Amino acid sequence: MMYDYLIVGTGLFGAVVAQQMKAAGKSVLMVDKRLHIAGNVYTEQIEGIHVHTYGAHIFHTNNQRVWDYITQFAEFNRFTNSPVANYHGELYSLPFNMYTFHKMWGVVTPEEAAAKIEEQRQAAGITEPKNLEEQAISLVGTDIYQKLIRGYTEKQWGRPCDQLPAFIIKRLPVRLTFDNNYFNALYQGIPVGGYTRMVANMLDGIDVRLGVDYLENKAELDALAQKVVYTGPIDAYFAFRLGELEYRSVRFETEVLDKSNFQGNAAVNYTDKETPWTRIIEHKWFEFGRDAAGNELPKTVISREYSSEWKPGDEPYYPINDEKNAKLYSEYKKLAEQEENVIFGGRLGEYKYYDMDAVIASALELCDSITC
Ligand code: FAD
Ligand code: UDP
Repeated sequence: MMYDYLIVGTGLFGAVVAQQMKAAGKSVLMVDKRLHIAGNVYTEQIEGIHVHTYGAHIFHTNNQRVWDYITQFAEFNRFTNSPVANYHGELYSLPFNMYTFHKMWGVVTPEEAAAKIEEQRQAAGITEPKNLEEQAISLVGTDIYQKLIRGYTEKQWGRPCDQLPAFIIKRLPVRLTFDNNYFNALYQGIPVGGYTRMVANMLDGIDVRLGVDYLENKAELDALAQKVVYTGPIDAYFAFRLGELEYRSVRFETEVLDKSNFQGNAAVNYTDKETPWTRIIEHKWFEFGRDAAGNELPKTVISREYSSEWKPGDEPYYPINDEKNAKLYSEYKKLAEQEENVIFGGRLGEYKYYDMDAVIASALELCDSITC
């Protein structure tokens, strides 16, 4: 059988392209080296709970097209992400808002909070923030930087905050209101029934081969299709010939506990530098502690996340978008552009710190350019 498209990777990027191509009348074959579909948004059922196997995934978007698209394949619940920060047993609200400022400084009004931040920013002498440390202090002051940002960030990225780009911390909202919603998004939630079911709905009627590594079977698979959409790591595609791009990896230690409530929230971030994990996820709270029939669940499942530098054999999770890696990626991109009949896309194919909605938007745009 000859297919129009071979899509490497059944994550969100590959799934959107496959779904759109099939809808446009093209024939599609998908392969994934993992034994399941859905890439990093994969969820599996343990004790009636949808466990986010590759880390907590909260869908959020301001993009109407993306929302209208994805809600064809799943209904979303009303989950709102409100993580708690634990600094040596002191608990703070995230993202940084009036609850955080009140707990940190005892301030009551937005004016008092703004004045405290300004006072700390001036004392630090920062005018133009040049790195994450300076950006953080100028946004929320020194106390919050030291208790809620420095330890967490250095554990997550494995680099000192003054050597990290400022943009990473700008992802977090800072609000002078009492609002613990982590995202500034119009739409937010978790797909009812889990992400795996949502992706399975997208791939309905599409041929999928699992446990197949494209790079190990390239010639044979290329012969099956006119065009390839590749969503694996771009450097691996070129056999690392220009060198390895760096990633952060994460190890998830998952436990089933014989109690109904471990931490009372889906995510608790451990922001001190001594605790070895960055955060603990308690998966049942993404679905309000209930199963599909609405029954309360007697057990709970938690995952501790340990961040580490990627090495061959590990899963690459977070691209490190610093200057050195950006330069190497741009060299790989030039090679990719010369590759006939191959399109590179997604978080690994484009070496980009994409959220789910951005990956969906990017895949839809690619399909527009192909089918228009
Ligand atoms: P992937 O999901 O990684 O899919 C790529 C697929 O390609 C994989 O299944 C892989 O097995 C396969 N593959 C790779 N190489 C080969 C090969 N040689 N042969 C065959 N198959 C191959 N985004 C949000 O919006 N909200 C969140 O809360 C959020 N949380 C996150 C938490 C973590 C820990 C991480 C790492 C990311 C998070 N994201 C979140 C981002 C989100 O995971 C990505 O935007 C999205 O999953 C990217 O989809 P993708 O298809 O590009 O990549
Ligand atoms: N961050 C922090 N303390 C926290 C949570 C986040 O300092 O409790 C910083 C950290 O540098 C992180 C960045 O904010 O890399 C962005 O956080 P986000 O939750 O968006 O990261 P994600 O895990 O989604 O990539």
